[in-house]
Amino acid sequence: MTSAALSALARVLPAEQILTQPSQLESLSRDFYWYSPVLKRELEGRLADAVVQPRSEEQLRDIIKFAFEQRIPVTLRGAGTGNYGQCIPTQGGLVVDLAGLDKVIEITADGIARCEPAARLINIESTARKSGWELRCYPSTWVKASVAGFCAGGSGGIGSITWGSLRENGTVHSLTVLTMEAEPKRIKLTGSEIFRVLHAWGTNGIIVEVELKLAPRSNWAQLAVAHDTYGQSFDFIEAIAHNESFKKRLLSNFEWPLPSHFAPLQKWVPTGKALAFIEVADDQLERLAHVATSTGGQVVFTAPYTEVRRGAQLSDYTWNHTTLWALKADPSLTYLQCGFSPTRFREQYRQLKARYGDDFLLHVEFVKSDGVYTPGSIPVIRYHSDAQLQEVIQACTELGIGIANPHVNFLEGSGRWRPDDAKLVAKQTYDPRGLLNPGKMRGFAATLEQAAPTPPAIAA
Ligand SMILES: Cc1cc2nc3c(=O)[nH]c(=O)nc-3n(C[C@H](O)[C@H](O)[C@H](O)COP(=O)(O)OP(=O)(O)OC[C@H]3O[C@@H](n4cnc5c(N)ncnc54)[C@H](O)[C@@H]3O)c2cc1C
Repeated sequence: MTSAALSALARVLPAEQILTQPSQLESLSRDFYWYSPVLKRELEGRLADAVVQPRSEEQLRDIIKFAFEQRIPVTLRGAGTGNYGQCIPTQGGLVVDLAGLDKVIEITADGIARCEPAARLINIESTARKSGWELRCYPSTWVKASVAGFCAGGSGGIGSITWGSLRENGTVHSLTVLTMEAEPKRIKLTGSEIFRVLHAWGTNGIIVEVELKLAPRSNWAQLAVAHDTYGQSFDFIEAIAHNESFKKRLLSNFEWPLPSHFAPLQKWVPTGKALAFIEVADDQLERLAHVATSTGGQVVFTAPYTEVRRGAQLSDYTWNHTTLWALKADPSLTYLQCGFSPTRFREQYRQLKARYGDDFLLHVEFVKSDGVYTPGSIPVIRYHSDAQLQEVIQACTELGIGIANPHVNFLEGSGRWRPDDAKLVAKQTYDPRGLLNPGKMRGFAATLEQAAPTPPAIAA
């Protein structure tokens, strides 16, 4: 941004809502991109020219108008917990920190949470619980993560063992976006329309309101079970996944030595064993503990339900928190996001272990994916070089393991691109100048290089 543009910005917002100090620019231009040694190298030092902090939708609208007129790139930020460098402003410009728009507007009688974009997921959960509801699924970062950031950058988490990922079962009831135009339009997307902007990394619309369908509230207890081998642990959680008499919110397991990295849990983590972490309906805790023991497992931790769940809990070690604990202990580690086959898991696992040994450590999160209980996995792997990382990805692909590659900084490469190009079409329509998170939707960059495209109409 030129100094003239920065001066013009001062006419749009009060001075205290425009941040330009180097330390502020640095902390609000970053996310967890450094999980990937590749992204760490590629994205280090990319900074916004200024960070703006709107406190109302009107102010947000003024910022959009300003950026459109001045042709300034805009990168939206919820809590900055993404780990693909999604909210890093790779082409500078403005970071719009939405943290001030964080209200849970209402919980409807039929179980829908209507929220401002930066409502924190934990606050949605606690508000919903007061009226008999709870989130269907949420990421392990729920204490900080925003609802729009989850919709634009996340995929699923705790709860996905029952409700599938965020994109399934109508969990995202609606997304309301502002377009990046001279006069921003406010458009409410429902049904399959949500796929235009869901998981689009803020490249094609500014989400200003989210409606999430909720689940009836349950009381969740926690359980950790140790088995001698990873295979035994997997057999156990797979059986529990398929046993629908158990009501579950979390079903994870970890190959040794991953549990050794969970520093605060070391007083009860047994050395050398695989661990499973489960959230189950409180009144089923005893029965589940009995089943665990009957499979040769040792119940090493239980916590009955308590209403206020602000303290540490097992989910703080699951999903991509597992990687975080491992990285804290050993910075030469990194990770992948793998979709193992529900029917060929054991063979796929055997082949990977034969090839990579302890350079590939299994961490499974069971999810119900399109109705099928599936071992999703976020393995922790040792990084030696870009070529070796690529070789591991290739080996997984050849074994039939789907990869959502977390070592790239563009949407199409990250594994959740839609073949119907709905996101690209939305970008052409809602962000015709390509100002939203530029560079991260490569298909759009390619269209810009051609003659100015005529935006195709979006089917209703
Ligand atoms: C330790 C750790 C554990 C994690 N566990 C999980 C997990 O269990 N499941 C999971 O799915 N993810 C997980 N993640 C990734 C991430 O935390 C989640 O996806 C989270 O929901 C992102 O929310 P956020 O508010 O931090 O989003 P941000 O990081 O701020 O933003 C994410 C993307 O959304 C865009 N965005 C933000 N707000 C808007 C808006 N209003 N309109 C349009 N676009 C917007 C941003 O530009 C960016 O591209 C994890 C990450 C870490 C570091």
